[in-house]
Amino acid sequence: MVETVVKVAINGYGTIGKRVADAVSLQDDMEIVGVTKTRPTFEARMAIDKGYDLYVIYEEKIPDFEKAGIKVSGTLKDLLKKVDIVVDCAPGKKGIENLETYREAGVKAIFQGGEKHDRIGHSFNSLSNYSENLGSDYVRVVSCNTTGLARTIFPLVRDIGVERIYATMIRRGVDPNDSKKGPVNAITPVLKVPSHHGPDLKTVIEGVNIDTLAVAVPTTLMHVHTIIVKLKRDSTTEEVLELWRNTPRVNFVKGSEGIISSAQIMEMGRDLIRPRSDLNEIQVWEDGVHVVGDHLYYYQAIHQESDVVPENIDCIRAMFELIDDNMESIEKTNRALGIN
Ligand code: NAD
Repeated sequence: MVETVVKVAINGYGTIGKRVADAVSLQDDMEIVGVTKTRPTFEARMAIDKGYDLYVIYEEKIPDFEKAGIKVSGTLKDLLKKVDIVVDCAPGKKGIENLETYREAGVKAIFQGGEKHDRIGHSFNSLSNYSENLGSDYVRVVSCNTTGLARTIFPLVRDIGVERIYATMIRRGVDPNDSKKGPVNAITPVLKVPSHHGPDLKTVIEGVNIDTLAVAVPTTLMHVHTIIVKLKRDSTTEEVLELWRNTPRVNFVKGSEGIISSAQIMEMGRDLIRPRSDLNEIQVWEDGVHVVGDHLYYYQAIHQESDVVPENIDCIRAMFELIDDNMESIEKTNRALGIN
């Protein structure tokens, strides 16, 4: 018998927001009270078709929704009066502009990885620092890339010890639904060195020694990371594989079984027949993992639209102290979402 049901708002029903809304709806200790849109798009209409109450972010846009025949239940401020927490899924760097509104409404808030850690003060990954966020009011779930790094690196730090990491993020150019941005025929390096991913990982794994580079490539499917880790002692490929076998939300794929690129991983994702073909787990190429002495080499792939979704659920649990143990929350979320 569940005693507390946390009332949740989603501010920004886009790529991440709609997935978090559906994931919250599958839990028995939280519920969606409403979601917001800025404009009367097909996503606004589909939110209503799915049974969500729709609220507008900007009151002056209500006539646009009415004209489009899309029923709204009020404004963001109305919605905030009815909830315990808002999951802000606004475009990167926009979410932080909402912080004061949430404070005034007296609701807790989760922000996404597009916001900076410093403005919020707490960052979250289910595996590496759940307990640090117990009872917090404002927390940022780190980005898709940082979540991917945290999932495979944290067990290495915990069980073997890590001296230094060099990692390159090969990032999808845009999400599948974004027809306005590129690159279409180019490879775009991030010239700020290190890329923000390394410093970002330190917000959820304190003191980890990592340098990162990043490039964007013309694909919408996934990010791929190439990672070299200098461990604190000699290890074996089998020891590292066994560690990840026992790590939630990490999955193995095999080149020897024809999974030679992100394309086959997403085909596998489609064959699993999950909502939107989402793959919430980090996909590590098992036959691409090699340990030589104290050096570990590996590749992993990240489904950028969905890996952070279960972390948002665990983050809500931590912030309301519904469950104190991270592994218990991870297991509950995974069961509800049918992952791992
Ligand atoms: P998106 O553009 O798909 O969706 C953003 C939504 O926010 C849209 O529905 C938009 O109408 C709404 N919005 C616009 N202005 C707003 C405002 N001022 N307040 C609230 N909502 C507003 O964006 P997304 O890809 O879902 O990204 C959301 C956040 O999640 C960003 O911080 C991003 O960095 C992070 N993130 C994105 C991905 C990804 O690959 N898409 C992965 C992990 C984390």
